[in-house]
Amino acid sequence: MARYKDEQCRICRREGQKLFLKGSRCYTDKCSVSRRNYAPGQHGQKKAKLSEYGTQLREKQKTKSFYGVGERQFRKYFEMASNKKGITGENLLQILESRLDNVVYRLGYGSSRPQARQLVNHGHFEVNGKKVDIASYLVKPGDVIKVRENKKDSKIMKENVEVLASRPVPEWLEKDIDNLSGKVVRLAARADVDLPVEEHLIVELYSK
Ligand code: SF4
Repeated sequence: MARYKDEQCRICRREGQKLFLKGSRCYTDKCSVSRRNYAPGQHGQKKAKLSEYGTQLREKQKTKSFYGVGERQFRKYFEMASNKKGITGENLLQILESRLDNVVYRLGYGSSRPQARQLVNHGHFEVNGKKVDIASYLVKPGDVIKVRENKKDSKIMKENVEVLASRPVPEWLEKDIDNLSGKVVRLAARADVDLPVEEHLIVELYSK
């Protein structure tokens, strides 16, 4: 059963990068990437040379795993990014960063994106005063995200506020810890995104 327990860590090991899927453990020396930085499985330590297609595919899979998005939704975001002005790859990352579960994680009200998604789904947050329980909700500049009054005293929220208070918040967001809220100052730019990904490879993959 240990195989399934560490499924998220296996995803990181397959991508050879920390994708921060497990909350506080990701910041300790218990992190599997720190301990065993090679792909999982019997042949994981053999370095296979990837084809062009394989490299593009890995970049896409890594990005999907980082944000916890399925293929259909990811494809939809790609279409949205292609229809926007600007560089498609950067637009794609900006859309992914704008998801409510990501914003909750970035603000430090969720210990990981998977946990942030669960908290959103369970109705812990409101946007501009209205309850929003859709993790894929896309925020806009000026939006105010707040922990709902009846969830402020929940054990998990108290723990997150205490433990994650020192986590830095990206410049495109503003955090108000006293009111358990945060504001979207502007949309995320490429420089704000800490995922080491070559997004142009994803564009090339979908453009075939
Ligand atoms: Fe596991 Fe987190 Fe390390 Fe990824 S970053 S391997 S999820 S502990």
